[in-house]
Order: sequence, then structure tokens, then C-alpha cells
Amino acid sequence: MLDFNEIRDVVVLGGGAAGWFAAAEARRLFGPQTAVTLVESPDIGIVGVGEGGIVNLVEALKRNGIDPLAFMRETEGAFKLGFAYRGWHGGGEEDVYYHLFNGPLELANGFDPQMSALLANGLGIGHAVRSMPLVVRGASQDDVLQALKEENPGFTASLHFDSHRLAEYLRRVATGRGVQLRLAKVQELLLAPETGWVRALKLDDGDEVPVGFLIDASGFARFSLGRTYKAAWRSFAPWLLLDRAIPFHMPHPGPNPALVTNALAMPNGWMWQIPLQKRVGAGYVYSSAHVDDDAALGEIERRLGFAVQPMRTLRFEPGHFEQVWRGNVMAVGLASGFVEPLEATSIGQMLEQLAAFGLLVAGSHGVVSDLAIERFNQANADYWRGILDFLRMHYDVRRRDTPFWRDAAERPLSPGYAALKQVWQRRTPRPFDTVPYRLRAQISMFGPPSWLAVGQGVGAIPPQAAQAELRSLPPEQRRELDAFVASVHASPP
Ligand SMILES: Cc1cc2nc3c(=O)[nH]c(=O)nc-3n(C[C@H](O)[C@H](O)[C@H](O)COP(=O)(O)OP(=O)(O)OC[C@H]3O[C@@H](n4cnc5c(N)ncnc54)[C@H](O)[C@@H]3O)c2cc1C
Repeated sequence: MLDFNEIRDVVVLGGGAAGWFAAAEARRLFGPQTAVTLVESPDIGIVGVGEGGIVNLVEALKRNGIDPLAFMRETEGAFKLGFAYRGWHGGGEEDVYYHLFNGPLELANGFDPQMSALLANGLGIGHAVRSMPLVVRGASQDDVLQALKEENPGFTASLHFDSHRLAEYLRRVATGRGVQLRLAKVQELLLAPETGWVRALKLDDGDEVPVGFLIDASGFARFSLGRTYKAAWRSFAPWLLLDRAIPFHMPHPGPNPALVTNALAMPNGWMWQIPLQKRVGAGYVYSSAHVDDDAALGEIERRLGFAVQPMRTLRFEPGHFEQVWRGNVMAVGLASGFVEPLEATSIGQMLEQLAAFGLLVAGSHGVVSDLAIERFNQANADYWRGILDFLRMHYDVRRRDTPFWRDAAERPLSPGYAALKQVWQRRTPRPFDTVPYRLRAQISMFGPPSWLAVGQGVGAIPPQAAQAELRSLPPEQRRELDAFVASVHASPP
């Protein structure tokens, strides 16, 4: 059992996105009798990549009383309406599919009729999301803002942001609300011999910071679960190949920041391009089994046609710690796990974990049972499994033109994705399919339209999946859908 009412020192280790969001949430959650202290080392710095959110980013900002438009201003951010996958079939300019953040769905018999009608007719399901014309014509930020202000915009937005500015801004917000900041390098975690719980952080100047509860946001240093406890790690390497990244910045290729994260297929992985107000955050994420770092840099420059200044090469093994909450420590962000940046799952997972943590602590009146912590860890692992299954789907492609794409496609399907793919040959994704991946009761990281967009995009969900369910609709509704499909055929955006 853990009684937060008796805890006087909540300590956050690390001042990246995970650390500052955790500190803000903790300050909101605990009363004035509890000190919230964040310890970070300016010498080590933050990872400095990860500049795109998913829809729970805006929710997290609002929950913490931060105006999303102020956040955009302070982080030189821009609207993000989804993702564009370019070249994932090995083709040219026209080889693109979209995964857009949809608005509220109006389901009939458990499925979205417009999306099913588009699938059945070989048209991208993005046409059912009202942001599609904005994305395709490269609308301005103001146009998006105006569209979002409409009563029922028919789409949702997240944000792109500068990761360093995000950490600086959240630091100002959180310290303004009473979070104490200690700039120091942590040398080790001091454990209580009888329980193995963390009792203090030992700093490299010899000082100690007392700990009642530790939120470990130490990034790839993975201070608690990795370095100190050597906890069990669940590797996703059997299913996902990518394990290196070279981040860099580049100028905007067009007049307006693009409204989506662009994911460009490359010979040995893919390149992300995240448009901010003044620059594009980019990087090549690739498989070290297929290309070395120098050759990867050469591939970037050949693709872009200009030289880039790489920040560094990041190495990672895709996966997560099986139990992120252990005793009086919870790891969040990179300190708890990471898979490649496809679909921007990392900050999304971190925010979801913090939201679920807050609900559990507040809902338990601060007195949390061991059973509840066990369940929390299990649900968190289920959430990660959803990420694995969703990402594995992206590589379920038909192309076999390079050894990387052959190996990526022919790697085993993760068991969860294999099971879903089987049913999606007969019907489209339903809310029930994503319930097993939830960390909070009502919320999926990616709902059925997301799975459908990617499943259609890669060719894993065939048009026939929609045909039987469309036949279950009354004739009048089917006629309306025929008219809708004809209108999309007549005027593509
Ligand atoms: C290549 C790549 C691309 C990514 N793209 C995306 C994306 O598009 N979308 C997305 O959601 N996420 C993305 N991510 C993940 C995203 O960057 C992270 O989830 C996010 O930045 C949070 O990082 P963090 O706070 O966990 O770690 P960090 O930002 O690395 O922060 C770690 C903190 O711990 C501190 N620290 C470490 N050791 C010590 C010590 N001994 N003493 C004191 N302090 C210490 C550091 O100083 C730092 O303040 C990407 C990650 C990578 C690697």
C-alpha cells in the first residue's frame, strides 16, 4: 500500500517533456503540505527531439490550465492535423496516404458508414474527415484556427512544437505554481535497506534530496528501473526493426508549415518531418542491421538534395519496462520505454500514463492498494501492446524492393495485430477492438478510424471488409452514401 497523504516529498528526476508535465500534474494533484521538487542536470540536457503530439496533448494542456494557443506561441508550435505517409508503397509523388485526427463519430451498427463506404469504393477514408481539404491545399494556421472555431468542425487538432521551448515554457509554468527546481546531477538513488524503496537522491555535490515518491523522468539514463533496479524489460525487437535515429533541422519546403507530420519512406526506414512556425524538425530513423550511420546520413542528403547538420545519432531498443510503478517509484517518458517515433506515440503514452496516475491517486483518496498498482502496471503494458500492434501494422506492406522493406514486412506479425488483421478481413475496426489497449477506461490512444486509415493505407484492410456491413444499413442510408461517394469522386480535395 502507498499512502500519499503521508508523503511530504514528491521528487521528479529529469526536466524534459516528461519531467515537466509530471511536475505540473503532481503540483495539481497534491496539496500544499507536499513539496514537489524537480531535479535536473543542465550538463546532461534533454533529448531535444520529439516535437509532435497526438490528441491527448491538447487535453493534457487544458487539464493543467494551460491555454493551447499560449502553448503554441511559447513553443513556436503549429497545428498538427495528423500524419501523411509518403512512399510507403515504394512509389512516387502520388504514393501517399493520410491518418487524420477525426472528430466525433456517428456510428451505425458499430461502424462509421462514410468511412466504410469510402473503403468499399477504393477511396481514402481521410475524405470523411473534414480537415482533409485543409491538409491537401496546405492551408494557413489562421485557416485552421477559424475552422476549429466552427460549432462542429468535424476534425480534431494536436500540435507540433519546439521541444526545448516546451521544456522551458513548462518549467516557467510549473515553477510559477510552486514546483521547486534543483539544478544538479544525480549520482545514485539511495535505497532503504528494509524495503528497497528510494529514500533519497544522492547528488554529485554530496547533497541528498529526500524522497517520499519519485517520478523518474531521466530519459534514456533510465535511472531507477534500468540502472538501479535492473527491472524486466519487454523488448519489441522481434517485431519492430528500427533502432537508430539521426535528427536534424531543415527549412520549410513550402510557404505554410505543413499541417501533418510527414513520414517519408526511405531505403532503410523512414524520415520524419515536423513543421514548426520557423523550421522543420526532421530525422531519419533506420535499422542498424541494414545501414550504418554514415551511409544513413548519405541517404538523407541524397533524398533532400542538400547537406544537413545532424544533431547526433540516437540508439535505442524498442520496448518498455514491464512494470513502470515499483514501490515508491514510477518511471515516465523515455525512462520507462520507447519505440520509434512513428505516430508520435511517446509523448502520447507519457501523458496517458500521467492522466491515469492522477485518476488513480485522486480516486483512491491518496491511499493506493498494491492490487491497484499491479492493475495500473498491467494496463500500462496493455497500452504499450496497442502501440506495438499499431506500429507493426504500418510495416505490413507489399513492397519488397530493398532488404530492409523485405525484412520489415516479413518479420512476424505481433500476436495482437495478427488477431485483429484476421477479423478485419471481414469487417472494419470497431471500438471493441481497441478496448484491450486502454489505460483509462473510456479512452483509446488510437480509435478505429486510425487503425482503418493505416490498414487501408498499407493494404491490410481490404474493401470487402466494408461491403457486408454496408449491406446491413437501410436502403435510404445506402443511397445517401452512394451520393457521398459520387461527390468525393467528382471533386477530390
Ligand atoms: C529520435 C526520436 C524521435 C522522437 N519523436 C517523437 C515524436 O515525434 N513525438 C513524440 O511524442 N515523441 C517523440 N520522441 C520521444 C520524445 O522525445 C520524448 O518522449 C520526450 O521528449 C520526453 O523525453 P523525456 O522527458 O523522457 O527525456 P529527456 O528529454 O531526455 O529528459 C531527461 C531529463 O533527465 C535529466 N537527467 C538525466 N540523467 C540525469 C542525472 N544523472 N541527474 C540529473 N538529471 C538527469 C536530463 O538532464 C533531462 O532533463 C522521440 C524520441 C526520439 C529518440
